Order: sequence, then C-alpha cells, then structure tokens
Amino acid sequence: MSKIGTKCVQGGYTPKNGEPRQVPIIQSTTFKYDTSEDMGKLFDLEADGYFYTRLANPTSDYVAKKICEMEGGTAAMLTSSGMSANFLAVFNICSCGDHLISSSAIYGGTFNLFAVTMKRMGVEVTFISPDSTKEEIQKEIRPNTKLIFGETIANPALDVLDIEKFASVAHENGIPLIIDNTFPTPVNCNPFKFGADIVTHATTKYMDGHGSAVGGAIVDSGNFDWMKYADKYPGLCTPDDSYHGIVYAEKFGIGGAFITKCVAQLMRDLGVTPAPANAFLLNVGLESLHVRMKQHCDNGLAVAKYLESNKNVAWVKYPGLESSKDKDLVKKYLPNGTCGVVSFGIVGGREAASKFMKSLILIAIETHVADARSCCLHPATATHRQLSDQELVECGVSPDLIRMSMGLEDAEDLIADIEQAFNNTFNQ
Ligand SMILES: *Cc1c(COP(=O)(O)O)cnc(C)c1O
Repeated sequence: MSKIGTKCVQGGYTPKNGEPRQVPIIQSTTFKYDTSEDMGKLFDLEADGYFYTRLANPTSDYVAKKICEMEGGTAAMLTSSGMSANFLAVFNICSCGDHLISSSAIYGGTFNLFAVTMKRMGVEVTFISPDSTKEEIQKEIRPNTKLIFGETIANPALDVLDIEKFASVAHENGIPLIIDNTFPTPVNCNPFKFGADIVTHATTKYMDGHGSAVGGAIVDSGNFDWMKYADKYPGLCTPDDSYHGIVYAEKFGIGGAFITKCVAQLMRDLGVTPAPANAFLLNVGLESLHVRMKQHCDNGLAVAKYLESNKNVAWVKYPGLESSKDKDLVKKYLPNGTCGVVSFGIVGGREAASKFMKSLILIAIETHVADARSCCLHPATATHRQLSDQELVECGVSPDLIRMSMGLEDAEDLIADIEQAFNNTFNQ
C-alpha cells in the first residue's frame, strides 16, 4: 500500500509494455465493436467496457481511479463540475418525498442546490449548525431522512466538521454520511477513516490547482450496506426496469453498487460528463497535489498569523491558527495542514475593504479559490452586493469580510502585497 504522494503521482494508470507513459486523452465520443452482441453485453451491464463518452470514458476513469486510491475508496467517477458531483451523489439515493440533513456551513452553490432546486424536485432539506450536538442532529432525523451532508472544511465559512460525530448519528439511524472534501483534499484528510460513506470533490479547486478545468468527483467507501436498509434505498435494492431488472446492490455488491447506479442511470440521463481533455488536465494537477498542498497551507498560515497581529484587522478566521475555535478538530482531522484559504475582517468595513482590494497587486480579485495564483474576494461588494449590511450578517457574511486564497507564491511577497495595500488604504 503506497503513501499519498506516490498515489498522487502514479495512481490510477499503469501502462503496459510499449503503452503511453502519460495518461492518454481518448478524445472519442464513441467506441467500435465487432458484433451487436458484444455491444449488447455492455448495455446490459454484463461486461465491462466503453460505448459512449456521455456515460464513461477511459481517460476520465483512469483519473477517477487515482482519486479513488487517494481517498481509500472502492469505486469512483468524475463529473463535469463540483456542483454536479454533489447533485448526483445526493440524487442517487434521494427522490421526491425524501428528506436530508445538511450542515449549514457549506458552499453557497450547494446550499442553493439543496434549498431551492432540490426543493423543487420534492426533496426537503434541514440545515443545521456544524457545531450541533449529537442530540441536536438526532432531533432532525425523520422516517424519510436518506442522508446527512457536510464539508470537512466549509467554503467560505472555514468551519471544521466533526466527521465522527455526524457519522455516528447517521449510522445509528441506518443512513450514510456524504462529505464534500474539496478544501483539505485527500492529502490532508481522508473522511472514510472517520466514518464518512461517500466523498465528493470540486476538483476545480486544489486538485486541478491551476485554474484550468472545472470538474468534480464522487468516491464510495464501500462501507455502507444498502441491502441492510433495503426499504430506504429502493433505487439500489429493487430491480431497475431501465436495465432489465438489475438490482445494483446484489449485482455489484457493497463496494460497487452506488457508483455503478450513478453512472448507468444518472450519467445516462443527465449527461454531466467531464471532457476527456479536462480529465487529463486534472490528472496533471493531481501529480503535484501533495507538494502543492503543503505550500498552500504554509502560505495560509503565514498570512493568517500576519493578519492576526495587524492593527488594521478586526478578526481573522483560519482553521490552522492556534486561536481557532476548531483547534481540537484540526488536531484530530487535519494534523498535516488545513487549506490555503483565510478570511478576515478589515477595520473600516465596506469602504476600507473596497480600497484595500483595489490596492492589491499580486493578489487578484476573483470569484475563485485554491488556485496556484493568490486571489481574493470581498463578498459585500461583489457576489453579495445586492444585500444590505443587515442581510449580509444574517447569511453569515459580515460587510467587512475579505476572503483570500493563498496560492503558491512566496509568503514574503504575499505579505508585502497585503502590507502595501493596508498602507495605501489607511495612511493617506
Ligand atoms: C467550488 C465548490 C463546489 C462547486 O464546484 P464547481 O466545480 O464550481 O461546480 C462545491 N463544493 C465546494 C466545497 C466548493 O468549494
């Protein structure tokens, strides 16, 4: 069993004699067969193979296999975006009339997916604080609750989730825990080790890491026994008429049913497929992920410490700081580092923030995080500009909040950039 760095570099794809050393881009929509019978077996899920890239493509599967090995799972798939990974992971086991529980500290896009779009599909969501006690989580469980969802480190709130606590409540009620592990990546945390059943990723972020390709991934731990709760998960445990009556949990077992159903049904019908060339770019990013994460985390910590001691800063939130409320959770779940994203409040609120942002030179204004190049965002004047100060506070984004994603540059240069922007904002 190799270690994480070796998996980042060599996982997923092992060329045979004379084959390409680098993962080949199979830029083909379709695949050729000698007989209709050969192809028929693929359609019946009786044989392994490829027939149409909307469902599956070898390049994407090599890269999915690498991410599967990095997370320690049994099966994985790529999707066209992080949003589609979260949607498919949830929709694979939730239908109209079902309910799920989610941490309220999650990515804004996922929050909207749950609160608005999935609601329109008849799936109800209860949002709870990531700091909820076991009893508080248990209180929200209903007979039709199908899963619990959370993020290891929340984007942008930066709260750390007590994965074991959420997993124990989920398992006491016979439902799985789905964890979006985008911010720490498998380099800094493996949620499966703490009881998570399914992991999702926005590979767009650190995994790609170069701002090149939007993408997502879903990984199954192979630990959740769907058949034990067959009444709750009819989609996995009763015959699928659109596949000649296959019962996924019987035919593909505990480690394969979830991803096989997700590909065979949801990719077939929804088509949120990654482009093979994007899977290739993702793989190039993964090859250096373990090296890059260390630098992102070192830069995040250096900038957070600098900000903490600066008189122009009202508050700093970074899970890796000694002063973090989540210090004990970080020690348990993220002992090697957290992420490169830091948020802080600037003295002087909205107006000072706007001036400060304009003064930055290296750190660019973007709605992105987890890129090699440092970037920052002031939600009150950008993504959330339609909201009043009062409304901002209600959705957990204070008017003075600046989110910074520290890239791979030298920390001294990043701190010097922030310093000159403070001087420009406050000393004239
Ligand atoms: C960015 C992000 C997503 C969505 O990913 P896209 O690739 O932008 O669709 C989901 N979850 C988290 C934690 C993210 O940071």
